[in-house]
Amino acid sequence: MPTSLVTGGAGFLGSHLCEELLRRGHRVICVDNLETGSLANIEHIRDRAFVHRNIDIIEPYFIDEQIDFVYHLASPASPIDYLRLPLATLKVGSYGTHHTLGLAKFHRARFLIASTSEVYGDPQVHPQPESYWGHVNPIGPRGVYDEAKRYAEALTMAYHRQQGVDTAIVRIFNTYGPRMRPHDGRAIPTFLRQALQDRPITVFGDGSQTRSFCYVEDEIRGLIALAESGYHTPVNIGNPDEFTLLELAKTVIDVTGSKSEILFEALPTDDPQVRQPDITLAREILGWEPAVSLREGLRRTIDQAGVEALVGAV
Ligand code: NAD
Repeated sequence: MPTSLVTGGAGFLGSHLCEELLRRGHRVICVDNLETGSLANIEHIRDRAFVHRNIDIIEPYFIDEQIDFVYHLASPASPIDYLRLPLATLKVGSYGTHHTLGLAKFHRARFLIASTSEVYGDPQVHPQPESYWGHVNPIGPRGVYDEAKRYAEALTMAYHRQQGVDTAIVRIFNTYGPRMRPHDGRAIPTFLRQALQDRPITVFGDGSQTRSFCYVEDEIRGLIALAESGYHTPVNIGNPDEFTLLELAKTVIDVTGSKSEILFEALPTDDPQVRQPDITLAREILGWEPAVSLREGLRRTIDQAGVEALVGAV
């Protein structure tokens, strides 16, 4: 039975990853200090092969048992969280990644870091292939997240090149599904919460900026496929179907049968204008591509999370 360590395992993506690894027969050690995640995401997991350790990975830490795979997901991830926690975001990307890479090195484990499409910043190349280096504002409010992830990628490659650690880098594009927090500020949970209450849907700017949304099940399948490959340089895992934010708002209204109107609000600083993964590489090396359409994913999110969880209290 392989053992996987999942940092950030009590978060949105991490909890789905823990479940899928358990389903595939792994023992899973979830390391999470619950900064932005929650015990509610993992308390239903009743499996003797699963353990949660409440550890802040910004401090040095050690896991005293054999580990085969390290999935390093711990980091504030939604704008609301990283704007509230700018230093913690930089520290988890730097110290937290150092400590976790060191652990992977000790155990000779395969290491996968969850990077992000935000390393491309406000892209000047569209769609974004892995070879594009990005266009990031290092000193804007979002820089704490974007640069932490860019540093973490550089660190990962340095551990690979200099220390021989078996590493992988996944660039995750916007992912959604059950267990997203209704007030985490990201577009899909915000629109669903507003639509399910027939409240105005708040679209930033004129809504012409684009995003590509990947259903969580597809994303997790991609992460595991990459971890189980021998690939070392970054790979985009996301859904290439691209929508404007206005199209997304209208689709959410349609799927929920809501009476909501659309309200336009000021655009946040450095909000990227476009976002669409080029997934040629993932198709070629992993045979991976997403299978769930936006409408289907929204329906599944509503069915599995339930309306109460999606409109939840602040
Ligand atoms: P999340 O906030 O739900 O999960 C992150 C988890 O990390 C939380 O459970 C949090 O408590 C934990 N954590 C944070 N700091 C920690 C620390 N110092 N020590 C231990 N645990 C800590 O976010 P998510 O959406 O599940 O994102 C998971 C990862 O995927 C992040 O690295 C994020 O950057 C990346 N990512 C996510 C998306 C997306 O659309 N969800 C897109 C791109 C990249």
